[in-house]
Amino acid sequence: MKILFIGDGQLGQMLGASATSHGHECLLFSTRTYTVKPLSAQLDLSLTLTQAIDWADVVSWEHEDIPADIVAAARTKFLMDPERIQRLTDRREEKSLFDECGVATSPWQQFSQTTELEQLLTQAQQPLVIKSARGGYDGKGQWRYTMASDPHQLAQQAGQAPGIVEQLIPFQREVSLVGARSKDGSICCYPLVTNVHEKGILSYTLAGMDFVTDELQQQAETSFRKLTDALHYVGVLAIEFFVVGEGADAQLLVNEIAPRVHNSGHWTMTGANSSQFDLHIRALTGMPLPLLRLEPTLMLNVIGAEQIPDALWHHPDTACFWYNKEPRPGRKVGHVNIATESRATALTWVAQWASQLQVLAD
Ligand code: ATP
Ligand code: MG
Repeated sequence: MKILFIGDGQLGQMLGASATSHGHECLLFSTRTYTVKPLSAQLDLSLTLTQAIDWADVVSWEHEDIPADIVAAARTKFLMDPERIQRLTDRREEKSLFDECGVATSPWQQFSQTTELEQLLTQAQQPLVIKSARGGYDGKGQWRYTMASDPHQLAQQAGQAPGIVEQLIPFQREVSLVGARSKDGSICCYPLVTNVHEKGILSYTLAGMDFVTDELQQQAETSFRKLTDALHYVGVLAIEFFVVGEGADAQLLVNEIAPRVHNSGHWTMTGANSSQFDLHIRALTGMPLPLLRLEPTLMLNVIGAEQIPDALWHHPDTACFWYNKEPRPGRKVGHVNIATESRATALTWVAQWASQLQVLAD
């Protein structure tokens, strides 16, 4: 098949690599330069967007924030309603979807003006997180309200209306579920993984070495089923959760969803027989979803660093991925997958390497 991906960042490149390894052809469309690019070359092809869409059997995306003109032009080549997906880039729509599907999420309210936000903060009985409705990623566009904050001052500072306020959740840990849904409704999910964030950005993911109860996995897959059925979704989708409560009382609260491949699924590039990118290609092209075989893996993000040290490129337990992006503090420029047999070993790797691999923005 011929696949056109909207977006030529690292996710687009990794999707493209998987597409070609499954015997498909692919092109990427850069939403920054508005040009069509081949896979793996910073070269603009002399094809218009319309020509690329005509060429493609199917159009998919690396990021759901697809410009409206592209949605309109590619309408017949998407496998689901792109406007429904695009609307999820607004946190109000996203939270409404959770409520409609009966999927537990932190209690929230929306505001459309700074004065409304100030009013919500004045009435607050507990700490809150303020999130702008659009454009937030890697912790950007978020502010914390504590009982010591001045509602007026914070509303002015955070007043990127519209937005939402939600309860600050005292979670035990953060986990995510990455899975795929086919057109016929069958689904295939990886086990829940644990994600650790620094300054709002994913620092590392622990896969297959954390104790995930059947109960929690079941809860997560039920949410996945409800949300993807509601969206008539085809492809890979990730759900970020907070775990609240301990042991048998542990519950999941959905934080947000990403209707696409996700950073917390990068461990599957070496830790699974079929990566999240492979799953997406299979779902897009109507191939059956696989039975999964998994290896415990640590995924350590490379953020803002100039390079990945040679010692990691040479180590037998590691696989390094460099995105060929200009490093700057807080920007994801690569990741390292490390085969580890235990959580303790994984945390030793993190302690040894995170400070060299991660330069975070202030
Ligand atoms: P991403 O890059 O994953 O899309 P994001 O910037 O869009 O992230 P969130 O995932 O909503 O935004 O928030 C980033 C991080 O901030 C979360 O992973 C979590 O650590 C923290 N956080 C967000 N909302 C809450 C909340 N309600 N309670 C506690 N912590 C929160
Ligand atoms: Mg997030």
